[in-house]
Amino acid sequence: SIPLGYFGGIGLASRNGILFKGSNYLDVVTRIDTVVMDKTGTLTKGVFNVQEVVTNDFDKEQFVALVAALENQSTHPIAKAVVAHAGDSFKTLAVKDVSEIAGHGLAGVVEGKNVLAGNVKLLAKHNIAYPAALTEVVDTVVVVSVNEKYAGHLIIADEIKDDARQAIASMHALNIATVMLSGDKQSVVTSVAGTLGIDNAYGDLLPEEKVKHVQALKDKGKHIAFVGDGVNDAPVVALADAGIAMGGLGSDATIETADIVIQNDQPSKIIAAIKIGKLTRHIVW
Ligand code: ADP
Ligand code: MG
Repeated sequence: SIPLGYFGGIGLASRNGILFKGSNYLDVVTRIDTVVMDKTGTLTKGVFNVQEVVTNDFDKEQFVALVAALENQSTHPIAKAVVAHAGDSFKTLAVKDVSEIAGHGLAGVVEGKNVLAGNVKLLAKHNIAYPAALTEVVDTVVVVSVNEKYAGHLIIADEIKDDARQAIASMHALNIATVMLSGDKQSVVTSVAGTLGIDNAYGDLLPEEKVKHVQALKDKGKHIAFVGDGVNDAPVVALADAGIAMGGLGSDATIETADIVIQNDQPSKIIAAIKIGKLTRHIVW
């Protein structure tokens, strides 16, 4: 039979907006020595805003409409920002053959023109040259090509969550190492990690590369909690000893796969979950 303490622990967690999907995870969290986190939607709000539009030959409004017509086919937080910025300007444009390439962006035909919108990796994949300085920008960038030629870019920014810095400090106070894994570019990842005091941060990662990083840590004998929100995060959430999903903005697949769900998306709840596990074990034993 399950000791009373486990029910108490699950109840206490639930009153704090933390859903444990099984009492065994109250034990698992007490052994966590490394917390691996996604950036967008986990440590940052995941709500981007267009800061700046830069074009070569295009009229800026026409450029934004062209990109938004494509991004309107995606549910990615970056896509939502571009669409919101464009207003109604793109709604009459003809769009076809749209495909989303995980960790890269979108390709499609808008008004008969081949359009790519995504990161520099997407353009590199298609052998399209782009300004080298774009890789240094410390905000997220949507790079765009029209008919196989760089046409401009949008600089978009996200905000760090209010309690993220404190959450990282609390992990370090418990001797838990912190790692950030992101599909966003390295310059953004380095900047966010610096602000938050995260031990190790890796950017430009494809979903399968996030899995490799977590597997490598497990192979070293680390006890891993992985915290993510995106649809791409489901495989790493499944691999971690404790897979944690941000439940508010999180994708259904990630919430489904997770062992623990944080309902209000606050990073401080990661440490609360670990502390509740420790408290419960104390009561059980
Ligand atoms: P994360 O690890 O931050 O959740 P993703 O794997 O979802 O990132 O995406 C990685 C990168 O791919 C993004 O930072 C962005 O540069 C690019 N990208 C993905 N989807 C889109 C999109 N719809 N529009 C533009 N860029 C995109
Ligand atoms: Mg994500």
